[in-house]
Amino acid sequence: MRWTKTFIPTLKEVPADAEIPSHQWMLRAGLIRQLMAGAYTYLPLGWKALRKAEAIVREEMEAAGAIELHMPALQPIELFERTGRREAFGNVLFHWEQKRGGSKVHFALGPTHEEVVTEIVAKHISSYRQLPLTLFQIQTKFRNEERPRFGVLRTSEFLMKDAYSFHVNLESLNETYQAMYRAYCRVFARSGLDFLPVEAESGPIGGDASHEFMTPSKNGEDRIVRCPKCSYAANLERADTGRKPPSRAVASNAAALTKVDTPKVTSIEQVSKLLKCRPDQMIKTLIYTADDQPIAVLIRGDHDANEAKIRRAIGAKSLEMADEATILKVTGAPVGFAGPVGIKCDVIADHDIPLIANAITGANAADAHFTGVTLGRDYLLTTTHDLRMAGASDPCPKCDGTLELVHGIEVGHVFKLGTKYTVSLDANFLDEKEQRHPIIMGCYGIGVNRIIAALAETKHDANGLIWPLSVAPYEVIVIPLQEEPAVVQTAEPIYSQLQQSHVDVLLDDRAQRAGVKFKDADLIGFPLRVVIGGKGLQEGVVELKWRDQPAPTKVPVADAVSTVLKQLAERRAQELTKVPA
Ligand SMILES: [Zn+2]
Repeated sequence: MRWTKTFIPTLKEVPADAEIPSHQWMLRAGLIRQLMAGAYTYLPLGWKALRKAEAIVREEMEAAGAIELHMPALQPIELFERTGRREAFGNVLFHWEQKRGGSKVHFALGPTHEEVVTEIVAKHISSYRQLPLTLFQIQTKFRNEERPRFGVLRTSEFLMKDAYSFHVNLESLNETYQAMYRAYCRVFARSGLDFLPVEAESGPIGGDASHEFMTPSKNGEDRIVRCPKCSYAANLERADTGRKPPSRAVASNAAALTKVDTPKVTSIEQVSKLLKCRPDQMIKTLIYTADDQPIAVLIRGDHDANEAKIRRAIGAKSLEMADEATILKVTGAPVGFAGPVGIKCDVIADHDIPLIANAITGANAADAHFTGVTLGRDYLLTTTHDLRMAGASDPCPKCDGTLELVHGIEVGHVFKLGTKYTVSLDANFLDEKEQRHPIIMGCYGIGVNRIIAALAETKHDANGLIWPLSVAPYEVIVIPLQEEPAVVQTAEPIYSQLQQSHVDVLLDDRAQRAGVKFKDADLIGFPLRVVIGGKGLQEGVVELKWRDQPAPTKVPVADAVSTVLKQLAERRAQELTKVPA
């Protein structure tokens, strides 16, 4: 391709509304343009990179045994009503009624395709002999994000690879899950991304049933807890801590239990201000309803409760914050004054609770708190649990290391779904004994746009983007520095011979100053640059420079093409060494 024949609108200035590096660089390098909040055009360079990422995803899905199909983005709302996802998605689901013929049709735009794919399988799969089956597509998805932002990281319309697997039993599901997990590692490694598979909330199947693939990045919206000493990594919601029930800490100078007036003061912040104490001296008493039974959960004032951990600790199917009537019943007080002393329901506590001497809690009476609350004297606990969000400096659950908290960009997710969709959409199979069972499902997503955005976010320097060969918009840029015949007559055959050798090459044939051409080449981040200039030609050489190397090398004109081919082959091999088998 010749620069003058394509469309590459680069920008000199950093766009004012672009908050993070990936957004700024993708705009400046002429990869994307915003149409409206959450909707972006992929300009030719951006589209090329996206298509290369898409091709890697497709190859690895097929290698893992998944079969491609293409389902409509336009879907009937009834499918979402049957699975309860119309309500679950709420305002995130695009849907509307429109006249068609004499009646009205209620459409939705697919945020994912569990319903559509399960409906197809329900109609055409009926026997264990037809399973397992894994179907995938690479298709545009729609989600009405409340806050689309960060360029193409969070948009209302995006390209997603979604795969769905169907099984007769958990062993079969586990096999495909492992194959998908390995395929995901290969996809992200081939794309040149740093990535971290992290444990995620496991849903209905329980256990080790869900992993997110994260690219660590300080602007990532997800928070990851990981141990630098072992391989443990989990998203914040899922992360366990290695804390154990502490040996009972009895305050040597236990103060008297004292009721203090705290009129209309209910939040941790307000109480700590009024009583001049730190939040970590306070016990938060959260009243939940777990499987219709009230339960009080004690968390240190400065910590956040983790509802998934609470649910697991008490073995509850459902868990929600109790309503005002329940709180009044178990505490005898309105919301905001709950405490463990004399409360009329079961109490469970986080491991950190017994360590608080002379704690401050609600007094189970309106407008009152207790100070000097002492475990063993004022309230009892038989054991403690890991019930809060993990944080930096917590002990690792798998080794004696210390956890750290990092931010990440989620680029993929694998999930053992179970039978949620097959039960609600009647997708069943008959086993060897003609017994009917719901099909067991797994689902697997990759945000294809996010591969590109995460690369832009994490692979750049002060001059612009730095692409890996595998997804670079062009692998090589050939730059003739002047328009004089000797330069052009050297550049043209190098360009055409590289093309004939199937190198993805761009010729910068613009009548521009050398400085402009170099700046744009660095800004866009083509991996390898071949520079032909009048001065070099007098010495009989051209210059090769890799975007990620500081200095160019000089190569005799006659060896230019063969050297480029050799270096490209070496670089490809080097990129592949990072890809797991
Ligand atoms: Zn560890």
